[in-house]
Amino acid sequence: MDPFQYVSHANRVIFGQGKRNLAKEELVNLGIKKAIVLSTPQQVELAYEIGEVIGELCGHIYTDAVQHVPIETVKDAQSIVEKLNIDGLVAVGGGSSIGLAKAIALNTSLPILAIPTTYAGSEMTPVWGITENNIKKTGTNVVVKPKAVIYDPNLTITLPQNFAVTSGMNAIAHCAEGLYAENANPIISLYAEEGVRALSNSLPKIIENPDDMDARSEAQYGTMLGGMVLGSVGMALHHKLCHTLGGTFNLPHAETHTVILPYAIQYNAEHAPKAIKALARALQTTEKDVPGVLFDLAHSLGISMSLKDLGMKESELNQAAELATKNPYYNPRPVNKEGIQELLQLAYQGKRPV
Ligand code: NAD
Repeated sequence: MDPFQYVSHANRVIFGQGKRNLAKEELVNLGIKKAIVLSTPQQVELAYEIGEVIGELCGHIYTDAVQHVPIETVKDAQSIVEKLNIDGLVAVGGGSSIGLAKAIALNTSLPILAIPTTYAGSEMTPVWGITENNIKKTGTNVVVKPKAVIYDPNLTITLPQNFAVTSGMNAIAHCAEGLYAENANPIISLYAEEGVRALSNSLPKIIENPDDMDARSEAQYGTMLGGMVLGSVGMALHHKLCHTLGGTFNLPHAETHTVILPYAIQYNAEHAPKAIKALARALQTTEKDVPGVLFDLAHSLGISMSLKDLGMKESELNQAAELATKNPYYNPRPVNKEGIQELLQLAYQGKRPV
């Protein structure tokens, strides 16, 4: 067996239908006396529902979180936190709500209780991001990792079908790249393989029957594992490319992950045989067809998925390839501009990898 390092930053996870009703107990466990509930304008109703659940521990409800955590929103919410002597943060929603809580925690060290409603997985990572002057700075600090997480699959019922699939592909991407990470280790690889299995098994069932609560639970379980992988080992080409496409070309987060993943895995396949074997087991397919099966999953709603469909221009592919290869980073297969240009061209056309 190869030598390895494994670091875990423990947090408490409560998992199950209806468990959002335990939010108050979790705040008490954390010693929080006056919390702020943070969410997005689209989830005001849910934010108020959680406000009611935590009762007298609710000091304020703030619902102006938006994608990519603009510094202006952080300052605005943090000024309320300071003015009201808030001593704990309750993030309700996807990566945007949790991202705002993390940014405030970075500045104040306040504890976070996260109640995630998408499959992005941010609740299980110590990674933060803040956007200032159109540039998203990211970093890692254990202080921002939520101290407790409540996964309540009932909260994912309202996810639109297409977002359930793309957000689920985002979670699969965390697992897939974790399998060939530079600091991959056998423990995280177990989580990663099981995460891909759980998500690839549950997503088609959710599409077929949106009320299938077993499938919804399994998808959130896979999400949790994906978040643990993302928070523990380094990512590679796929995440780097998605970061470039999101940051510079303003493409949507989950959809971009969905489009790029099959081609990034195809690009790396021959240089990551152990990871491909694990993916083939999890996806119940042959090693050769792993990129194709990921593509099929991404297209399982029957919606065309390509960089072109996301609004990228063919003329921008060259600049994207240049940006994504400018600074060296770890990837199992060496990254060069021609190779990435070819990958992006395939993703632009959106054809099934062969
Ligand atoms: P999001 O949080 O931006 O949510 C997208 C939209 O869906 C929002 O309008 C939200 O209100 C709505 N929504 C969320 N849950 C819903 C539900 N159950 N029903 C109906 N609508 C719902 O999207 P996301 O993909 O969860 O997060 C993306 C952001 O998170 C990006 O900025 C990304 O960079 C960040 N992220 C960070 C990490 C990390 O570890 N730091 C990990 C993954 C993603």
